[in-house]
Amino acid sequence: MSSRPSAWPSATPPQANAKPITVTQPHLPPLEEFLPYLEQIWASKILTNGGPFLRQLEAALAAFLGVPYVCLFANATVALVTALQALRIGGEVITTPYSFVATAHSLLWNGIKPVFVDIDPDTYNLDPDKIEAAITPHTTAIMPVHCYGRPCDTEAIQRIADNYNLKVIYDAAHAFGVQRQGQSVLNAGDLSILSFHATKVFNTFEGGAIVCRDLRTKQHIDHLKNFGFVNEVTVVAAGINGKMSEFNAALGLLQLQHMPAVLERRAQIDAIYRERLAAIDSIETPTWPEQDRVNWSYFPIRVKPHCALSRDALYETLKQQGISGRRYFYPLISEFPMYRGLPSAQTALLPHATQASREVICLPQYPGLSDADVHRVCDVLAMAAAPAKVLPLAA
Ligand SMILES: *Cc1c(COP(=O)(O)O)cnc(C)c1O
Repeated sequence: MSSRPSAWPSATPPQANAKPITVTQPHLPPLEEFLPYLEQIWASKILTNGGPFLRQLEAALAAFLGVPYVCLFANATVALVTALQALRIGGEVITTPYSFVATAHSLLWNGIKPVFVDIDPDTYNLDPDKIEAAITPHTTAIMPVHCYGRPCDTEAIQRIADNYNLKVIYDAAHAFGVQRQGQSVLNAGDLSILSFHATKVFNTFEGGAIVCRDLRTKQHIDHLKNFGFVNEVTVVAAGINGKMSEFNAALGLLQLQHMPAVLERRAQIDAIYRERLAAIDSIETPTWPEQDRVNWSYFPIRVKPHCALSRDALYETLKQQGISGRRYFYPLISEFPMYRGLPSAQTALLPHATQASREVICLPQYPGLSDADVHRVCDVLAMAAAPAKVLPLAA
């Protein structure tokens, strides 16, 4: 940028030597608040296998989220794999290419063929109008993703699922606390999977969960995540080890107390970004649906074709200024080697997902970000993305 000093729109150019701003940073409660939990674990010597903290967290999360049952897991990927097992899904599953690879990987781990369907360019979610054309006699389920925490069109997806007798498993890794018309979006479909990975809105270091509607399903899932054990001598299925430890569950209980403040800070950051970036017409900011309650988990901007810099150039400019954005989701899942040979992976069939993956940058968004940090990100964007109008150099 030093070659174009006259393009700075403001008097104070962002400083290249300022402290780096990461794209995300896990929220951690004060350590001293966690120590009493550790003391309890050390005293009880119960480390895992459905211990007291795990049971407490399952109940606390069900209440906080407004869902019937929660089955805690070691991470969301093993939860996705297990959810497909629990519903005995096989054949083909319709899913989105615009997600984190684990969504489709969970299908391959079950010997299921992913069928990619394009997204709605305004929501980044699976376009319900394109689902029916992808259904074949082998289709058994739909696996949508509430991308960036924006709820899918759950009613339209359910109508299709009902018509064709398909299961719906939501990868809800981004959708912690998200509500649609006053209801948890996690109650849509047959099962929803949450991630509590370090980078997510609610973290337990590593962790995940399946949300389900009835106790029988919960019990079945709980058996599957514990090798298939029902009791000491009975194994009902070739289950896996997907259990969450007491350490992670204890942290989750403490993190949950901080969630209202975490969400409030995320909303503030989102509002600053939207206000500041509204002035840059070559950058499109997310417009969250008013009737829904989102969780401000990501701040995806779209770098429009008429922007002074390409998406990748803008991404690099941010990096040079010590600000890391993320090209979520680039490449598309359908572009990775284990998927690109599939008939549904052709770029021509996925124009909106392809374009989004070339235009989106997720900006830093986490509760530890200061207002000044957010403004610095906006300053760099304003400087770099504005059309190159040459301002007179100060004498
Ligand atoms: C983070 C994420 C996952 C994987 O979660 P882990 O807990 O890390 O296994 C799956 N799907 C999506 C959409 C994600 O963002």
